[in-house]
Amino acid sequence: MNIKPEEITSIIKREIEKYEKQIETVDSGTIIQIGDGIARVYGLDHCMAGELLEFPNNVYGMAQNLEQDNVGCVLLGSEEGIKEGDIVKRTGKIVEVPVGDALIGRVVNSLGIPIDAKGPIKNDGYRPIESPAPTIIDRSSVNEPLQTGIKAIDSMIPIGRGQRELIIGDRQIGKTAIAIDTILNQKGKDVICIYVAIGQKQSTVAHIVNTFTEMGAMDYTIVVASTAADSAPLQYLAPYAGCSMGEYFMNQGKHVLVVYDDLTKHAVAYRTMSLLLKRPPGREAYPGDVFYIHSRLLERAAKLSAKNGGGSLTALPIIETLAGDITAYIPTNVISITDGQIFLESELFNAGQRPAVNSGMSVSRVGGNAQIKAMKQVSGTLRLELAQYRELAAFAQFGSDLDKDTQRRLEKGKRLIEVLKQDQYSGMDVDKQIIILYTAVNDFLSDIKVSDVKAFEKDFLEYIDTHHRDIPKSIAEGKVLTDEIKSNLEQAIAEFKKIFLA
Ligand code: ATP
Ligand code: MG
Repeated sequence: MNIKPEEITSIIKREIEKYEKQIETVDSGTIIQIGDGIARVYGLDHCMAGELLEFPNNVYGMAQNLEQDNVGCVLLGSEEGIKEGDIVKRTGKIVEVPVGDALIGRVVNSLGIPIDAKGPIKNDGYRPIESPAPTIIDRSSVNEPLQTGIKAIDSMIPIGRGQRELIIGDRQIGKTAIAIDTILNQKGKDVICIYVAIGQKQSTVAHIVNTFTEMGAMDYTIVVASTAADSAPLQYLAPYAGCSMGEYFMNQGKHVLVVYDDLTKHAVAYRTMSLLLKRPPGREAYPGDVFYIHSRLLERAAKLSAKNGGGSLTALPIIETLAGDITAYIPTNVISITDGQIFLESELFNAGQRPAVNSGMSVSRVGGNAQIKAMKQVSGTLRLELAQYRELAAFAQFGSDLDKDTQRRLEKGKRLIEVLKQDQYSGMDVDKQIIILYTAVNDFLSDIKVSDVKAFEKDFLEYIDTHHRDIPKSIAEGKVLTDEIKSNLEQAIAEFKKIFLA
């Protein structure tokens, strides 16, 4: 057989080429230190910030500190069985979560893994947990209301779709209750809700999921749960994961509401993580970038312009204060980021005014533009009258003789406060809110005893439903209180009062 050298060299060359193609290069490093959910890895030269790293035993980690000779990373799973000298592989991906319609109705953890025993999720794809907020050009101003169903909020502190409104107050005074009621009130309003629980008790989360299921809210809600039993990195990731899931829907032109319950615990989880990573501590031992973790999260809430589909992502972050101190580090940070706050006060809560909204200290900087005209008509003077009432009430405690006008204002204030009280799970449509607020603001309750106001409200709204269906209907349709509606309403009030007082 005649062998030609050129042939052989060409074959060898081809083999070499093929051989090279079969090689799969994986950037890897070795663990030089591990403990407390933190690993230091040597040799990951090209690692990106926030990159997902693969540890032995199918555990993943996230690169946090890119230092000169090592990478500090946090483990997203158990460190059991992982030891010094083990190999860590790069994945080339930033941490991401599954997104899609299939997530609706599910309870997932910070990585999007279902924890509700309902089987795997057929997601539409993945989305990085961190992404840049929509730019100024991508946005439009907030112009649609997001009804919470709570009278005190929809009238005085209105929230618009795409707004960021902070719920702030001490422990156990109904912060979560407001967020839950808002989610329950979105039923049939084409808003997808995401409830992110950060560092809460498992039993609390289970209770909330039960409430959602019973009230039929799971049909449009995703629960992202990182409980107190989860590691600090998982608690830290939860709000970003929830936000990414929401952004997916927002980019499709849908409306999304995300509740972060609560960001105080989020900051604490981040502090734990940072201290373990040996980052320098600053004020209250929080790291220097604790402002940025919240600002970049809340900036992702937006109302997109019509060109971008017109979707929206409304954020309701919750912050817990100590003894009503809103000047502490984390509260002031988040107050300055958001478009307003709903301030809850323990004195009000304990005095039986629930929801315990302090209307003087609460503001909504953009939602007023989204409020319907009819609501503006009745709520215009409400804030002012309540402020005057509080001032007079403090003064009247001295027990001096009061003139007629002062007495009248005090009596009216008491009835306004009574009307603004609202039980949990009793969201009210905006047309009904307008009817009862109109009645109170225009002094039609002056001959009803304060203790009877709640009963009057309930019976009156029922009476309207059975005898004057056209009034709420025309308010809901026209969105404005015309003279005709007003006179019809006043007539209905007079009719009903005769029955009620008899
Ligand atoms: P935490 O600090 O533990 O998170 P929180 O501020 O979120 O507490 P909630 O758990 O919402 O407070 O409410 C505390 C208690 O107050 C609950 O038992 C709840 O049922 C009750 N509550 C809240 N809002 C109302 C309301 N409008 N009417 C009656 N009870 C209420
Ligand atoms: Mg709570």
